[in-house]
Amino acid sequence: METILGIDLGTTNSEVSVIHGDDVVVIEKDGNRLLPSVVGIDLAGNLLVGHPAKNQAILYPERTIKSIKRKMGEDVHVQLGEREYTPPEISAMILRTLRSYAEESLGQKVSKAVITVPAFFNDTQREATRLAGELAGLDVVRIINEPTAASLVYNSDSTQRETLLVYDLGGGTFDVSIVRVEEGVLEVLASHGDTHLGGDDFDQLLFDYVCDEFKKQHKIDLRETPVAVSRVLQAVEEAKKRLSTEPFTQIKEEFITEKNGISLHLDMELSRHQYEEQIMPLLEKTLTCLNDALNDAQLHPDDIDKVIMVGGASRTPRVHELLESRLGNKLHGEIDPDLCVTMGAAIQGGLISGTKVGRVLIDITPHTLGTSVFDPRIYSPFIFSPIIKRNTPIPCSRSKVYGTVVDNQETVEINVYQGEADDVRQNAQIGSFHLAGLAKVPHGNQIVCRFDLDINGILHVTATEKDTGLAGDITVENVLTEYKPEVNQSFREHLNGFFADEEAVSVEPEQVGSESTIDDKNFINRLGLADGWEQHYAKEAALIQRAAAYLSKVADDDKKDIETRIKELVDAIKRNDSNQITSLVSQLDDLLYYLEDSV
Ligand code: AMP
Repeated sequence: METILGIDLGTTNSEVSVIHGDDVVVIEKDGNRLLPSVVGIDLAGNLLVGHPAKNQAILYPERTIKSIKRKMGEDVHVQLGEREYTPPEISAMILRTLRSYAEESLGQKVSKAVITVPAFFNDTQREATRLAGELAGLDVVRIINEPTAASLVYNSDSTQRETLLVYDLGGGTFDVSIVRVEEGVLEVLASHGDTHLGGDDFDQLLFDYVCDEFKKQHKIDLRETPVAVSRVLQAVEEAKKRLSTEPFTQIKEEFITEKNGISLHLDMELSRHQYEEQIMPLLEKTLTCLNDALNDAQLHPDDIDKVIMVGGASRTPRVHELLESRLGNKLHGEIDPDLCVTMGAAIQGGLISGTKVGRVLIDITPHTLGTSVFDPRIYSPFIFSPIIKRNTPIPCSRSKVYGTVVDNQETVEINVYQGEADDVRQNAQIGSFHLAGLAKVPHGNQIVCRFDLDINGILHVTATEKDTGLAGDITVENVLTEYKPEVNQSFREHLNGFFADEEAVSVEPEQVGSESTIDDKNFINRLGLADGWEQHYAKEAALIQRAAAYLSKVADDDKKDIETRIKELVDAIKRNDSNQITSLVSQLDDLLYYLEDSV
């Protein structure tokens, strides 16, 4: 069978893959599967493509071209060194490099390719892409949409009708598309996006934050020194990536600058929470696009069967949380979000050349793994806090940070659960250990809980007191097989849950179950929401239930406030207005937090 390359010609990075045997193989060069879509000319006049060009971009911007994809189809020229080039000529340099990597790896010449483009590209932009391929010596057998390619990876052998939502958050662009798959035919029903929104903007926010903090401390603006700018930009991008799996990270750059002949170092801690708050307005923009796409396709969140996560920045944990609360628990990111589009292009190539392609197989955890936390606001010790979500590729590591509940709390018990329910009593407890001898400090003492899961299903759980480094751990085997929840676990066993709280231990079991009374339920039933709404708005439903439980306990004025807030939230839910929902959830949450002391 003839080999057809599958190429994702991206704004930030590009990749190439082929079908080999029954599998899709992404071509690697020097351990890298991503080729930065950057082209440059060095001082000696040599052409640079990929990492070397990216590395010189800050120092020699006039000799470097980034994000050429944004100019495809425009009648413009870009200056590179002494000469001017058209966008297809620059893209051809990237394509030629990918082609040479593939030929080197396969040990044979290749001349055909499927190249992907965004769904919103018009005919001129598609033609420019085809031309770039031809200039690189490739016969472009098909140009396909990126969301279509991603859908092929998740749906290559399905005969069922499915509706997929592809959420693609890359370095410089964002788009969301709804794809209908029926009897092997894929159709993009709607597509919305923002061609100037992505991980690079997140880097810029972090970069400004770090420079501002450094300036406050040392009265020096790092933005004024090009080398410092390039180092800080690289450091914040790496820090941002670490924050997708760690709750805290350090940004350390030695000898970043000097003042009065004395060297200064950059040394800063960043928390995931802090970072995610900074990017929240940008994430909300992506949700607006998502709503627009649903509206255009005249679909409801219920109609979506799978949500496919594409693009490096879609790994951000807050993105997952926002999408889950909007669309429910159907996110798929198990295929590397950076490689999903090129793999889909290769599958399309395989279909054209008649090569049989099996389902793309990867090792994932089929069950969510996490711990239990005590939520003092509803006085429940049964709250499941997922740490590694199901469908996560393995091996993997994830950490979250928790706080102690009472002052001078000396011990926490870490319970490890497997399952999907929000209430740990419906999940299986697969391990437990104590971390004793904590520092005698006020409540909120931070404990970092880290889960490392290896390819053989061995889970290593570590809990570390952040300030002292005091740590405890446990290893659980066979966590990829399903454990059955133990029924009738007693409430008292759970009272010593993660937040081993003296107050909680003194509460009688019946009191906990009394949070939701018949009156509260009637109130919720009267809100006029469609049957089953709780499944799509699980977090909102839990919040409304929690709020309703306050109605019988607070003064009349507060009761009115709660009712108004709930009604506003319910109206927003009925309208599917995600921006309003996010804002009203936080208002209602704040109100309950404030009322907590008065009940
Ligand atoms: P893409 O255009 O799809 O290659 O995505 C590149 C963007 O994804 C860049 O902004 C990267 O910094 C970002 N990115 C890559 N890995 C991660 C990660 N683990 N967490 C957050 N962002 C990431």
